[in-house]
Formats: sequence, C-alpha cells, structure tokens
Amino acid sequence: MADCIFCKIANGEIPAATLYEDDDFRVILDLGPGSKGHSLVLPKAHYANLYEMPDELLGKAMAVAKKAGDALVKGLGADGLNLIQNNGLAAGQTVFHFHMHLIPRYEGKDEVIGWTPGTLTDGDKEEILAKVKI
Ligand code: AMP
Ligand code: ZN
Repeated sequence: MADCIFCKIANGEIPAATLYEDDDFRVILDLGPGSKGHSLVLPKAHYANLYEMPDELLGKAMAVAKKAGDALVKGLGADGLNLIQNNGLAAGQTVFHFHMHLIPRYEGKDEVIGWTPGTLTDGDKEEILAKVKI
C-alpha cells in the first residue's frame, strides 16, 4: 500500500522507535501513548484489519505480542498489560493497517482504558445467540 504510514514504518522507510523486529513484524513505541511504554505490533505486510489477517500470521502476531508485552512489563516495572486491537472507525481505528496495542498498566495511575459495564438482558442474550453464527 503506497500511501500507508504503517507499511512505511513496518518496512523501515519511515523511522520509528523500534523495540523488536523480525521477518514479519516490527514493534514500535506509539507516538500518542496512553501509558508509559504503549507500543504497537505492526505486520510488515498490509492487512487493513483483523478480518483480513491470515490465521497463521495472526498466530505469529499474538506470539510477538506475548513476548513484547512480557518484556515491557518486566523492563518498565508495570503491574499489568492491556492488549487492544481496533477494527473500524466505530471501534476507534484510525490507521487502517492491522496493529495491536500493548499498553502497560501501573497501579495507582489513572489511564482510562475500558468501558462502563452494562447488564446482559434476557432479550439481548436470546437475540445475540440467535443472530451470531460462528
Ligand atoms: P488505532 O486508533 O487503533 O488505529 O491506533 C493508531 C495508533 O497509532 C494511535 O495510538 C496513534 O497514536 C499511533 N500512531 C499514529 N501514527 C504513528 C506514528 N507515525 N508512529 C507511532 N505511532 C503512531
Ligand atoms: Zn499498510
């Protein structure tokens, strides 16, 4: 993808603070971090979102996330880690090249990453179980 910024970063055409690189992925520091150490796992090949990613590459992406997340938590003395992956504008995706966010979390720090829990109603439960076929 000629005009995709994450293609250029993942393949080294645009410099980025790189924590890890292999044949398929680059892990970089996010320029707008939600917490100290917020990083992104980028495949070097262009896939717009989760649904376009081949299963085998997705498996490798998760293994990279595990390795990088573990190193971030240990290296920075974090207390936890959020793994977040957005698909579509409505979900907050702003760069349409698949990526996973690794967000270290620190006890007592107030970064807000989450949602306000609602209640699973009987109506929703029946509707969802009837409509969603996996
Ligand atoms: P998303 O909203 O899931 O599409 O996430 C895109 C992320 O990419 C945001 O957290 C941005 O801060 C980050 N980002 C955008 N451009 C760059 C860049 N050139 N280098 C590093 N991170 C970037
Ligand atoms: Zn791309």
